[in-house]
Amino acid sequence: MFGKVVARQKDNLPAPPELPSFRVEPSDEDKELREKSVAERHAQTGLVRHDAFLEEASIDPDAAKVVRRLERHGFQAYLVGGCIRDLLLGGRPKDFDIATSARPEDVRALFRNCRVIGRRFRLAHVLFGGGKVIEVATFRKNPQELEEEEADLLIRSDNVFGEAHEDAIRRDFTINALFYDLDRRQVLDWCGGMEDIVKRTIRTIGEPSVRFREDPVRILRAIKFAARLDLGIEHNVYDAMISHRDDLGRAARPRVFEEVLRLLRHGCSHRAMWITWESGVMAMLMPELAAFLDDEESHPEAVARFWRQLDALDRITLARGPIDDVVLMTTLFYEPLQEALHGSRDKMRAASDFLVPIAERVALPRRIADGMRRIVAILPRLKSGRIPKGRQGEMFNLATRVAEVVAP
Ligand code: ATP
Ligand code: MG
Repeated sequence: MFGKVVARQKDNLPAPPELPSFRVEPSDEDKELREKSVAERHAQTGLVRHDAFLEEASIDPDAAKVVRRLERHGFQAYLVGGCIRDLLLGGRPKDFDIATSARPEDVRALFRNCRVIGRRFRLAHVLFGGGKVIEVATFRKNPQELEEEEADLLIRSDNVFGEAHEDAIRRDFTINALFYDLDRRQVLDWCGGMEDIVKRTIRTIGEPSVRFREDPVRILRAIKFAARLDLGIEHNVYDAMISHRDDLGRAARPRVFEEVLRLLRHGCSHRAMWITWESGVMAMLMPELAAFLDDEESHPEAVARFWRQLDALDRITLARGPIDDVVLMTTLFYEPLQEALHGSRDKMRAASDFLVPIAERVALPRRIADGMRRIVAILPRLKSGRIPKGRQGEMFNLATRVAEVVAP
């Protein structure tokens, strides 16, 4: 009985599923061999270990349990990516991801509360109470057998398992490629990420122009991290963002749009939109908005209002939490839309004419495109107080949110 209580203190996870056991518990000798093999695996990979005492309290206890159970069963397992970056920069991570040498089916065999997801790249999700999901991904590498043609580096498949160092260098930015060894309390660094954390700099792993051609969405990710974490962008990286901004036209539009929303969602939309505009990325994705900002001289007040509205969005996000995507997008286009509507008699039609090409270019989901049109129609009635009490449905609530931001 007592033994059981002690064992549960070590690991509060549900017991593994009762699958036929083909695994033999490792002996001490095996463990030594395994230790050695991890060291051997890391030898000559350019690994640098940095002591880093991340506070236990700041680490998600469920993620820590998953790491420890994987390690006890002989696998390498590390906390990785955004969570380590955010902790080292003094922030609070959104979620905790794990990278491991265990294959998805090994992970499933170890955790009852686990499902394997994804076809393109299979990952394990370990589920906890309150909807918490810990993502456990097997180390993978950049697929080399893909076409080497200079013109087309776009990554189309990445379902190739690999070693920890290969998993680090396939990532986008050095600050996103740090692994944390919980027991040794060390950051494992294969690409100089720690130095960039200290310098608060965004740098790609490898040649920026190659990495942006492989996946142009990384250009938007660089802007997101710069804005959200208040980091600088290394000048070669920034130059490559400018040179390759047109490649965003080749990326999957829903992915691009999702990344645009992320630029607006985190309470740093002003900074994010400023970098997007300055780098010319906005001219590529949202030329109507870029033209509106480029032409500041002819309407300085409208442009000043645009930036103030983003400040208001950011303040509200930081104070009250996430804002609906429809409200974000309506606010973003509010000022240029007002200009497009100016003097037109059929406002609904003019709003449609303005929004349709935007919606097509960025693949706006129907809910957002329709929502924007309806909010634009509701706003004048809201302003004049002509909304009957009983009429306050979801759209009216969203329109009220927009009104708060655009006409405080
Ligand atoms: P966030 O806090 O926004 O979740 P994140 O760094 O965790 O930031 P994710 O999109 O959750 O970002 O991705 C997890 C990790 O996967 C990243 O830290 C990065 O190492 C890697 N990654 C994500 N997208 C890419 C990409 N397009 N190219 C290469 N590596 C990527
Ligand atoms: Mg993440």
